[in-house]
Amino acid sequence: MADAPAECNIKVLCRFRPLNQSEILRGDQFLPKFQGDDTVVVGGKSYAFDRVFPTNTTQEQVYNTCAKQIVKDVLCGYNGTIFAYGQTSSGKTHTMEGKLHDPHQMGIIPRIAEDIFNHIFAMDENLEFHIKVSYFEIYMDKIRDLLDVTKTNLSVHEDKNRVPYVKGCTERFVSSPDEVMDVIDEGKNNRHVAVTNMNEHSSRSHSIFLINIKQEHVETEQKLCGKLYLVDLAGSEKVSKTGAAGAVLDEAKNINKSLSALGNVISALAEGTKTHVPYRDSKMTRILQDSLGGNCRTTMFICCSPSSYNDTETKSTLMFGQRAK
Ligand code: ADP
Ligand code: MG
Repeated sequence: MADAPAECNIKVLCRFRPLNQSEILRGDQFLPKFQGDDTVVVGGKSYAFDRVFPTNTTQEQVYNTCAKQIVKDVLCGYNGTIFAYGQTSSGKTHTMEGKLHDPHQMGIIPRIAEDIFNHIFAMDENLEFHIKVSYFEIYMDKIRDLLDVTKTNLSVHEDKNRVPYVKGCTERFVSSPDEVMDVIDEGKNNRHVAVTNMNEHSSRSHSIFLINIKQEHVETEQKLCGKLYLVDLAGSEKVSKTGAAGAVLDEAKNINKSLSALGNVISALAEGTKTHVPYRDSKMTRILQDSLGGNCRTTMFICCSPSSYNDTETKSTLMFGQRAK
């Protein structure tokens, strides 16, 4: 097995989207001040990350600086996870997916799909690859298969090596980037059909795309496996205690709980000294257990709005990212 570079395995990257039309019309101020390529100042306080992407950063630049290496590592048998964290409308889906069929605007997932197959076509002919993908979401702590609408409450099990997995979740074998895109389109369509307001729904559920890569040398029969989780998290915004009631409040509490569980796991891993990492505190962290920390490649995108209107949420998002450092 080829060794991937040994460096800190949790990377926290911060990306600011541009002001949108309605923010400009409202006269909102542009808050962030970018310093160098790893620091941003908001409201007089400075926040440092492994990298900060100002608003004019292209999808390609984002991919090249943070995801390209992970693809190589996963092909060397490492596991990895890439998350997007932030309030609704901060650019999470833009970063993870972007416009799937637009070569300039496509995000990390479609670029990964292309990159994987480019690598494979250039590799030793004696290597046989089996690539399968799954696509599911976690909503109110229930796991729903986005490739089979009849599976609405799947559970997390452990295999004989104690590796957690979502039992019964659809797995699709794919042999080209186009087939990966088809699977994503299918999952997104299913998600649209199942809910009345897609925007609201997607801001309240975590969507998870899993790419599993198995390779085998046809002569030596040596095997190598790597997998990559790509997670578009639920919106991190706080719901005002007075404004929300009933189902909305329950959803908010649930999201808050699962995002805190994730934050606790990442910060325990980042500290590196803790013997107890609380993976078992949420379904998502249980699923991701063998793809977070340790030898795994973990990248967290902290997505932010630049508008003065979102001041409070932006600061809280930046603080979440700081905990992981
Ligand atoms: P989220 O998934 O966090 O709710 P989206 O990714 O859907 O947010 O982004 C909200 C809107 O802002 C979308 O219309 C998206 O195209 C746009 N947007 C987000 N990030 C950027 C960016 N970096 N550059 C240009 N437009 C962006
Ligand atoms: Mg989104």
